[in-house]
Amino acid sequence: MPRKKTIKKKTPNKKPAPIPSGPVRPAVDWSSLLRDFESRQPEIVETIRQLVEIESPSDNKSAVDRLGSMLAGRFEKLGGHAMFHRVPNFGDHLQVDFAGKRDAKPVLLLGHLDTVYPLGTLSTMRCRIADGKLWGPGAFDMKSGIAFVLHAIEALRARHEDKLPRPVTVLLVSDEEVGSDSSRRITESVARRCQAVLVVEPAYGAKGAVKTARKGVGEYTIKVTGKAAHSGLDFEKGESAIVELAQQVEQIAKLTNLKRRLTLNVGTVQGGTRTNVVPAEAWATLDVRIAHLKDGKEVDRKLRGLRPFNRKCKLEIRGGINRAPMERTPAVAGLYQKAADIAHQLGWKLEEAAVGGGSDGNLTAALGIPTLDGLGAVGEGAHTANESVVISELPRRAALLAALIEGL
Ligand SMILES: [Zn+2]
Repeated sequence: MPRKKTIKKKTPNKKPAPIPSGPVRPAVDWSSLLRDFESRQPEIVETIRQLVEIESPSDNKSAVDRLGSMLAGRFEKLGGHAMFHRVPNFGDHLQVDFAGKRDAKPVLLLGHLDTVYPLGTLSTMRCRIADGKLWGPGAFDMKSGIAFVLHAIEALRARHEDKLPRPVTVLLVSDEEVGSDSSRRITESVARRCQAVLVVEPAYGAKGAVKTARKGVGEYTIKVTGKAAHSGLDFEKGESAIVELAQQVEQIAKLTNLKRRLTLNVGTVQGGTRTNVVPAEAWATLDVRIAHLKDGKEVDRKLRGLRPFNRKCKLEIRGGINRAPMERTPAVAGLYQKAADIAHQLGWKLEEAAVGGGSDGNLTAALGIPTLDGLGAVGEGAHTANESVVISELPRRAALLAALIEGL
């Protein structure tokens, strides 16, 4: 029987207030929710298997679109309104809106459709169940997270007469693994309308910590142009781009500051044509990770300020910081506290972690919207042949997501 309606407790704040810490509202018996998900475990496993078996490499639009349409169909069956943000070069980004019983801003469930594995990987890296784990390309990052979203919505509807307790928006983008260039603005504009963002990226470590801080990421290319010459006939007329680049690389390496969790990694170098030619061109690409926004600005300034050691060589620096760090703001900490309270009621201690990798959670956190990342599966081997998720952990992770949707 529906509970008696109570008089409005509070007038809502005009500003999007940070999530207050304290006990979760309303007081719900989360343990029955956990039991519910425990009985759904085989279905969750089956959903993950189905999603893994639709390969979806970021660079293959039709493959990603196939997964997107399958999911749109499933979300519509759950009462959602699905629509695609069309993009020419990547898969279309899938947005699904659900109305809720309670009048509130939606919670955004954020994830991505794409994986890093080229089409055909399944033939050598089969989706299989062994040793209590489900293995396969993208199982951990992050098809299990998508499965949680489906099953959390399904379970909440079953508890609330085929409705959701509050409005929910699901956004699954197609290009997260390659920097989110085509989805970034969409993610930001959708997130701005939401109360909080729950990111279903993989959890961290064997204990499945959620991520309350992520480093920001930047990418740069540094290109040196020197002057070619025959190394035997007129060596002294040449200006070696490789010698110049080597000196620059050393300068760049000095910008790393481990105490501030600021790193610069020159990941690739290329240059020259053959051994008997003084090289006229050389370049390097680098990955920059920042824990603090202002370090990003500082590093950017220093990289652009690099000057050639050999005045006859020319330097060109391209790139920039493309994802700001997700910092552990009070709003993020408040959201973590809510999740930890729920996990406690479900019988486990939910830890938090600060990690080096960036995700789309960085984008939404940078807008000041309370964001909690790492709500996906517990597992290991993201982006490797060992990618897998722990099956026994699936029910409580899905229950945590459902309880957060309801309890925020
Ligand atoms: Zn991911």
